[in-house]
Amino acid sequence: MLKPYFELRQQFETGKESVVDTINELLKEIDNKKDLNAFITLTSELAKKQAVISQENFDSGKPRTLEGMVLAIKDNISTKDIRTTCASKMLENYIPIYNATSVQKLVDAGAIIIGKTNMDEFAMGSSNENSYFGNVLNPLNKEYVPGGSSGGSAAAVSAGLCHVSLGSETGGSVRQPASFTGIFGYKPSYGRISRFGLVAFASSLDQIGIFCNNLVDLSSVCDIITGVDENDSTSANLGPTRSSSKIENIYKNLRIGYVSDEVLNNCTDYVTKKYRSDLNKLKEEGHELIEIPIHYSEAWIPTYYIIATAEASSNLARFDGVRFGFRPELNEGDNIYVKTRSNGFGMEVKRRIMLGTYVLSSGFYDAYYRKAQQVRRKITDSYKSTFDKVDMVYMPTTPGSAFKFGSRNENPIKMYKADFYTASANLAGVPAINIPSGLDDEGMPFGMQIQCNNFEDEKMIGYANYISKLINS
Ligand code: GLN
Repeated sequence: MLKPYFELRQQFETGKESVVDTINELLKEIDNKKDLNAFITLTSELAKKQAVISQENFDSGKPRTLEGMVLAIKDNISTKDIRTTCASKMLENYIPIYNATSVQKLVDAGAIIIGKTNMDEFAMGSSNENSYFGNVLNPLNKEYVPGGSSGGSAAAVSAGLCHVSLGSETGGSVRQPASFTGIFGYKPSYGRISRFGLVAFASSLDQIGIFCNNLVDLSSVCDIITGVDENDSTSANLGPTRSSSKIENIYKNLRIGYVSDEVLNNCTDYVTKKYRSDLNKLKEEGHELIEIPIHYSEAWIPTYYIIATAEASSNLARFDGVRFGFRPELNEGDNIYVKTRSNGFGMEVKRRIMLGTYVLSSGFYDAYYRKAQQVRRKITDSYKSTFDKVDMVYMPTTPGSAFKFGSRNENPIKMYKADFYTASANLAGVPAINIPSGLDDEGMPFGMQIQCNNFEDEKMIGYANYISKLINS
């Protein structure tokens, strides 16, 4: 099993382990587990070359901050000269000419890209059943979904195929699959990590996030990729986080916000039970528990799906068969736009574009889109006043553990409800992180999340490390 990077690094430094051998063994392991379908593209040759450079840097005593860390990247994040498909037929052969800022920073710090991970097409989905390249299987039980839309990135970490992976979050696509595969999944404050090079789904909600099975490595990556970026005008004018220095803090007298029974109504019994027992442990440690009046929780999902689809319909208009993407064979009289998009997009993407176009159309704009914007403001305000009273909100990440393939496909609304606990943080722009919390009767994991005030990412990662040790002890 792949050791955490922080452990392996010491062995790289003392020469007990070699980067080249590590990469070769991992490539074998990836091949053994290829039925998981976690990767769309493997960058084996590139990784082997990088491993030689990393080894030389260790040998000469000059390793960079993340030298030899093995990294997988969701396939909607641009990688120079490496195919970036968004799991869509539309971009099946698209090769970017530049790296996303986060990718460039990681490569500069010595991380080795092992491959591009499978995902729901254009990051739309909660189960990874919407990929043009087929389903990703949950490594803990292959009959179950790994969650979505960053299912490949979550599965790759959970199966020990890389140290860390990047995903993207628009409404929960990092936290939800992290919960279903038993790992940590961090969604930053809006603007904390540059979106430059992330293929846009819903720009006012999208953020790149990080998966890892330990918070030491997660925080090292966070400290590298956060910070203002002149290529992303929505990036916050802040330097990189210093979360690694907070990671071992012991916290006293925290004010922890918990949600009411009404909000827990959507949960399975085992999640509710574990949630209550986690809260009890926190109370026994002397922390103050404060019930938070979360207003508008019934509006989280509708508001998210109106705003996300509206922005998606506009963002995806660029895939027209002329400037970007797949071009079908055309016969005389064919409409290129119609034929490209009918053939190039999968069903869920088409559904989102239709929904988004509808809520933006002149007859319905006021009733849906404008209303959703107003409700989004209320949700954001309600978070603001909550964080006047508490240091963090603690609540379930997902209503239950992973579900079986095919069990929610016939009813999209049922699928959309998988995002019930995650979408609100994206609407409000606040940071949030999944921590593995418990197992259901069949041994499948589920997580709880911590949410903090805007730009309190560093503190939040420290809280997460502290609470995760406490609730899993
Ligand atoms: N499951 C949500 C959706 O399908 C979230 C997606 C995401 O965060 N990228 O829209």
